[in-house]
Amino acid sequence: MMSYSQLLKEAFKATRNSYAPYSRFRVGAALLTDEGEVVTGCNVENASYGLSNCAERTAVFRAVSMGRRRFKAIAVVSSKVNPVYPCGACRQVLREFNPGLTVVVADGRGRPLTTTLERMLPNSFGPESLRRKRGR
Ligand SMILES: [Zn+2]
Repeated sequence: MMSYSQLLKEAFKATRNSYAPYSRFRVGAALLTDEGEVVTGCNVENASYGLSNCAERTAVFRAVSMGRRRFKAIAVVSSKVNPVYPCGACRQVLREFNPGLTVVVADGRGRPLTTTLERMLPNSFGPESLRRKRGR
């Protein structure tokens, strides 16, 4: 069973592959699947800045492309300042697959702090928002 400390370590490892020549802000994410697998991601910047992709979305897109869609938790860290929390775009992408996802970040000493996506993105829009509700 993967602990949140271990998941944080995997996220820290993922920062090594970060491609962040412009911001120098290296970010790593580690997504824990329901099956106990860990899928990591890093931020990937681009000379056309707006095309840069965050570590969290890299991890989600990588996991989905591997056929994984059920996630328990995600750990997010930067190589500079912690804690760092997912940006708004990543919160929405994570919400698609599990609105109750546990989000793990590192405190100043690298220890896990946990919260939930529900807290970070209240009253969110998701797949069920597209379905017609009975009586309307
Ligand atoms: Zn993001």
